[in-house]
Amino acid sequence: MLTTHPFEDDTLHEECGVFGVSGSDSAAALVALGLHALQHRGQEAAGISSFDGHHFHTHRAMGHVAGNFDRDDVIRALPGTSAVGHVRYSTTGETALRNVQPLYADLSTGGFAVAHNGNISNAMKLRRELVRRGSIFQSTSDTETIIHLVATSNYRTLLDRFIDALKQIEGAYSLVVMTPEGMIACRDPLGIRPLVMGKLDGAVIFASETVALDVCGATFERQVEPGELVIVQGTEVRSIRPFAPMAPRPCIFEWVYFSRPDSIAGDQSVYTVRKAIGAQLAIESPVEADYVIPVPDSGVPAAIGYAQESGIPFELGIIRSHYVGRTFIQPGDKVRHLGVKLKHNANRALIEGKRIILVDDSIVRGTTSLKIVQMMRDAGAAEVHMRIASPPTRHSCFYGVDTPERAKLLAAKHDVGGMTDFIHADSLSFVSIDGLYKALGEAKRADVRPKYCDACFTGDYPTTLTDHDDVAEVDQFAMLEERVN
Ligand code: SF4
Repeated sequence: MLTTHPFEDDTLHEECGVFGVSGSDSAAALVALGLHALQHRGQEAAGISSFDGHHFHTHRAMGHVAGNFDRDDVIRALPGTSAVGHVRYSTTGETALRNVQPLYADLSTGGFAVAHNGNISNAMKLRRELVRRGSIFQSTSDTETIIHLVATSNYRTLLDRFIDALKQIEGAYSLVVMTPEGMIACRDPLGIRPLVMGKLDGAVIFASETVALDVCGATFERQVEPGELVIVQGTEVRSIRPFAPMAPRPCIFEWVYFSRPDSIAGDQSVYTVRKAIGAQLAIESPVEADYVIPVPDSGVPAAIGYAQESGIPFELGIIRSHYVGRTFIQPGDKVRHLGVKLKHNANRALIEGKRIILVDDSIVRGTTSLKIVQMMRDAGAAEVHMRIASPPTRHSCFYGVDTPERAKLLAAKHDVGGMTDFIHADSLSFVSIDGLYKALGEAKRADVRPKYCDACFTGDYPTTLTDHDDVAEVDQFAMLEERVN
C-alpha cells in the first residue's frame, strides 16, 4: 500500500471521538451517524455497543465508520434504546481489535460499556498495582485501567465505584458509560477533552463535538462541564460534581486544529476562532505577496482570515482530490513517488512566477512543510512564505493526542531561523501565544492563565505526568548505573 496523503503523516492526530444515545428506538443508527461526523477524530477503528434491556451487544471493526456501520445487518444486530460508540486513533495501546472501544465489562453490580476520549497519564502505574493485586488485563488500552479500578472498588453501587475509580486517575478523560440503568457521561476536572450534550425527541445525546449533534438532527443543550458527571436514568437527567473544583484547562488545540470548523467548542465557533488566528498572524507577520494559499483542508479558515486582514487575495494553490482514499494500491515502483500527487497537487497556472503565502495549522516534524514548499517551488513559485496558525509545537502531548517524542519535533530542535532553513521557505512565522489567546477573545496568556492547556507550546502541563516521570526516573537510573559500571 502507498500513502497518498502527503500531509497526514506529519500532523497531530486527535486520539478519539465518543458518542452516546439514551432513550431512542434508533439508538445504534444515531450513534453510527454521530461517529461518522466525528471520523476526523480517529480513523483507525470504530465500535458501537447497545443495550436492549436485557443484554449488551457490541460490534467493533478496524477502519472507518462508513463501510463498517452503514450496513442494515450491523445496525439491526445492535438493538435497544441506548447505545454508545467510539472512533479511535491509537497512541496508547497497539492497533488491534482488542483495543477498539467501547470496552465492555461484566461485574457483580451489572455490566457496562465505556467509550473514552483522552489519555490517563498514570495508567501504567495504576496497571502495575492492579496486576500485582490479581487483575488480568485483556488489552493494552489505558481505558481498561478504569474498568479494573471500578471492578476492584470497595463501594457498592456502580456509580460510587466509578467515582472511586475516577478519583484515582490523572490526565484527560471524557467518558460515556452505558449501564443497564442508563448512561453516565463525565469530563475530567480540568475539562481537557471536550464533551457536549444534546437532545433529540426526548433522547439524551452525548458527543465529543457539536457537529455530531447537528448531523443527527439533535439540538445542542450544553457542554458537560469539567468535573461534572451527568447521569441519565429513563427520562431523569441529573448532575453531580464529586471532585474538588479546579480552574478548567481545555485543550487549546481543539480550536487550532482538532475540532471540525463547523463545531462550537466552549461557546466559540471553531471556524470564527481559526479565522481570527489567521487575521492575528497577518497583523504579527506581514509580508508582501501576490496570493494567500491554504494548505488543505485545515489551513483554510486561517488563510481566509490572513487574506481578509492583509488585503492579499485568497486563492486555491493546492488542489485536493476527493476521490482518493488514504491509501492506494501501489501501481509499480517507478511511479511510487507520484502517489502523493494523487491527493494534493499544485495549481501551476496560478502559482507560476508568483510570491505566495502558505498558511498551515502547525508544524510537527517539518517533513510535511518541506514537501509543500518544494511542491510550490516545483510549480514555479517566485517566493514561498510560510505562516503557521499556532505557536511552535515544542513539547509532546500526554492527554490523548498523538505527538512524536520531543526529540522529533522540529521546533524542539531548531529556532525559527533553523526551521526556515529546514523547510526551504523564504520566510516562516508562527502566531504568538498571546496572539492565539487574543484570537480566542482572551487577554494575554499571562493575564488569564490558567485558562487552556497549551502545554505543547509552553511545556506548562496542567497535571502531574506520573508515567512519563517514572520512565524518566528509570532512564536516569539506567544512565547512573551505566556510569557506575
Ligand atoms: S498538550 Fe497540546 S494537544 Fe495536548 S491537551 Fe495540551 S494543548 Fe492539547
